[in-house]
Amino acid sequence: MSRRFARLEDASGRRSWVELDGGAAFVLDAAPWLGGKRTSGRLEHVDADGCGPNHRRIAPVEPSKIVCVGRNYRDHAAEMKSDVPAEPLLFLKPPSALLGPDGAIVLPGASERVEHEVELALVIGRRVRHADPERAAAAIFGATIAADVTARDLQRKDGQWTRAKGFDTFCPVGPVVVEHLDTAALRIQCAVGGVARQDGNTADMVFPPAALVAYASGVMTLEPGDLLLTGTPAGVGPLVVGDRMTLTIAGIGSMELAVIGSHG
Ligand code: MG
Repeated sequence: MSRRFARLEDASGRRSWVELDGGAAFVLDAAPWLGGKRTSGRLEHVDADGCGPNHRRIAPVEPSKIVCVGRNYRDHAAEMKSDVPAEPLLFLKPPSALLGPDGAIVLPGASERVEHEVELALVIGRRVRHADPERAAAAIFGATIAADVTARDLQRKDGQWTRAKGFDTFCPVGPVVVEHLDTAALRIQCAVGGVARQDGNTADMVFPPAALVAYASGVMTLEPGDLLLTGTPAGVGPLVVGDRMTLTIAGIGSMELAVIGSHG
C-alpha cells in the first residue's frame, strides 16, 4: 500500500512532517521527498486523513514554486469557450497562496467573481531538468489534492494571471500526499454546500502527468517538493462567503474548506 504523508502543527506552533500508518502519525526528521525517516516521535489517534485531537493540519507540501497548467481538460476548455492548447499552457502561483486542509479561502475585495478549480497536484521527488517523459515519471514522488482558486474577473481584466491566481489562500492543498499513486484514471470532484459542481476523471487530461513534468522541466529546474497542478475538469463556478467547498480525488481522500470575506 502507498505511504501517506501529512504535515501537522501542534498547539505551540511546532510543525512536523508525519507518515500516517495504522491510526498513528509517525514523526519524520525531514520532508518525505528529502529522505525523511521516522524518529521516535509518534502521535496516537490520527486517522488516514491526518485528523487528530491535538493538532491542526497544514499544507503537506513546501514547494519552491507551484507550477500550474491551464485548459488541460477538453470539457473545461470548452466551457471557457477556448480550444485546448497545442502545448501545455504554464503559469505559476506563489507559495504564499498555499492553504492547509483545515483552512479558509479568503475572498479578496478586489474581485467580484472567485471560482473553484479542483486539480490533481503532483509532488516532485527529485531535481529534474530537461527530462523526457520516462525520467519525468520517475521524478514524481506522489500526488495530492489542490484547488487553483481563481479570481475570474481579474483573470479576464489583467490579460495575464498573476493577480487572479496569486492571492493568499488561493492554493489549498491536502489533506495528504500519497506516494507513488497511479494517477492515470482517478475520479476528481468538487462540491459546494454539498452540491456537485465538478465531477471528472484524470484520464481525460489532454497532457498526462509525465508529459507535464517533462515539459515544465524544459523551462525551469524542478526541485524536490515542488508542486505541479495539472488543470481542472469542467464545472467551475463561483464561491461566496459562507460556502463550504469539498474537494475529493479517489485514492487520496477529501478536504472541506470554508470561504470567508476579507473585511478589507
Ligand atoms: Mg486551473
